[in-house]
Amino acid sequence: MNNEVLLPGETLGLLGGGQLGRMFAQAAATMGYHVAVLEPGENAPAAEVSLKHIRAAYDCTEGIQELASHVRTVTTEFENVPADTLKRLAELGVRTTPSASAVSAAQDRNVEKAFIEKAGVPTAPHAAVRSEADVEALDSSLFPGILKTARLGYDGKGQARVRTREEALEAFRGFGGVECVLEKMLDLKLEVSVIVCRDAAGDSVVFPVAENHHKNGILAYTVLPARIDEKTAAEAQEHAKRIAQALDYVGVLCVELFILGDGRILANEIAPRPHNSGHATIEACVSSQYEEQVRIAAGLPLGDTTLRSPAVMLNLLGDLWYDAAGNVREPDWTKLLALPGAKLHLYGKAQPRRARKMGHATFVAETQSEALAHARAAAEHLG
Ligand code: ADP
Ligand code: MG
Repeated sequence: MNNEVLLPGETLGLLGGGQLGRMFAQAAATMGYHVAVLEPGENAPAAEVSLKHIRAAYDCTEGIQELASHVRTVTTEFENVPADTLKRLAELGVRTTPSASAVSAAQDRNVEKAFIEKAGVPTAPHAAVRSEADVEALDSSLFPGILKTARLGYDGKGQARVRTREEALEAFRGFGGVECVLEKMLDLKLEVSVIVCRDAAGDSVVFPVAENHHKNGILAYTVLPARIDEKTAAEAQEHAKRIAQALDYVGVLCVELFILGDGRILANEIAPRPHNSGHATIEACVSSQYEEQVRIAAGLPLGDTTLRSPAVMLNLLGDLWYDAAGNVREPDWTKLLALPGAKLHLYGKAQPRRARKMGHATFVAETQSEALAHARAAAEHLG
């Protein structure tokens, strides 16, 4: 890869116009860079804060060429950006972080698991399911399990909990026979994530481990740092570094991990981009996950991921925009904003939909229990 340093004043390319891209563009602007975003949608959160918005499909040849005419580097902000687009950008001489091959590995749960295993990191017991015969051949020790589509799943979508082989067959048919993976259902003590940032020279830094709590398959809140012992945290961070290395990853990568009752740590899945569980790094760490993404895209030295303060990040879903009668209204932010250590991030999305990520709030405090108390108070005020 070309390691040329791109100095402030340059334009950085971005694929995808969502909230992660918005926060990338904000970090880029802080450091004096402009952003050009390729995004088909009209009112995209990232486009609103970027210098240039190329409105075209991610696989549109003209759109890709136009992006390449404005930038020498491109990064991504969502998982399912066509790997082929990154490949074509690379062929046009644009540096892409991450690379097409790393993104395509992360887009397929079976390929992703193979890389995780290659890195020497344990995963949940699993087997690929590509046909009904594969369901018949599944080891019975994998039940009860979770059948997940290999591609395009997120926020718990494309998943079915199956107790028996019959249920697995039914779920596999329900998914239209697309490639899946069956994972053994594990008794999770805690879910955590580690964001690792790796540069072209192969150096990497990791953020403190984040502790994640989901509701209805969607991240509800994150506690930073995770309430785990130092040895477990160090092991989780080491796992993330090894996975990034196995992928020869250049960019910001999130590794989701499970901690089991017996203390074992398994890698669940990876996301080749900044992550919802890393939002709090904006306020809680010296350099945020977005600043790291800018630094890597520009070929600058990695930043300092040291924690400055404990923090709790609360996701603000579209549900908060609906009153009891089902009418849309703007939530009253005044009580949240009056809480100590509160920071409000809204993504400027025009249409609030239930379960849609509209924003988040981060609470920093001297102690983690204070940060948690303030996040809880905010959640109660918002209803
Ligand atoms: P998504 O792409 O939707 O985030 P995940 O693989 O992370 O998919 O699964 C979503 C959630 O389902 C996880 O955060 C976890 O709570 C639960 N889950 C996933 N796999 C397992 C498993 N093997 N055992 C127990 N719970 C699981
Ligand atoms: Mg997940």
